[in-house]
Amino acid sequence: MNYYLGLVHYPIKNKKGETVTTSVTNLDIHDISRSCRTFGIKKYFLVTPLEIQRKLVNDILGHWEQDFANEYNPDRFEALGKAMAIESVGRAVEEIEKLEGKRPLLVVTGANFKSYDGDTSELTKRVEKESIPCLILFGTGWGLHEDVLNMAHFKLNPIYSKVDGYNHLSVRSAVAIYLDRLFGNR
Ligand code: SAM
Repeated sequence: MNYYLGLVHYPIKNKKGETVTTSVTNLDIHDISRSCRTFGIKKYFLVTPLEIQRKLVNDILGHWEQDFANEYNPDRFEALGKAMAIESVGRAVEEIEKLEGKRPLLVVTGANFKSYDGDTSELTKRVEKESIPCLILFGTGWGLHEDVLNMAHFKLNPIYSKVDGYNHLSVRSAVAIYLDRLFGNR
């Protein structure tokens, strides 16, 4: 199974539709790493062009790689082993191509897609049929920027409930829901 996950901090659109760079949060590092470890994601890319932010991520990851942290909480250490800071979506694609020998299917997510290519079962069928790796991208702030959406090969259907149209989940919740749909043990 060769699925990868990316949390994009740039380019991101803000409330006014401007292009911004959002900050990496400790919560997103830890929570999404744990979801990735639970559901067998090979690598979790934290995408930010800001070197100072990549250093922050590496400092946090470095802390948990030390023996005392590993002894204190081996589960957390194991989860964080999935995480890696990287400059851009393009670099993440290159990293996967290096590891897998093939470029990944680029998948994007969003709460308010007007049109999309399918749900998680259609995604897995396509990945299996094309026998290629898959990189699933999640946004921060107000969602993935058009430039990223336009790079995608597959737009996942937004998560909705049966209640009403409200569906603005935290990115951590959206990641967990999609990964359970993809790889949960029913
Ligand atoms: N309005 C933004 C949007 O369109 O997604 C909300 C951004 S939300 C705070 C951050 C990220 O979580 C989104 O970019 C998407 O990756 C994911 N997300 C949040 N709610 C979602 C939903 N209902 N369906 C699919 N993805 C969702």
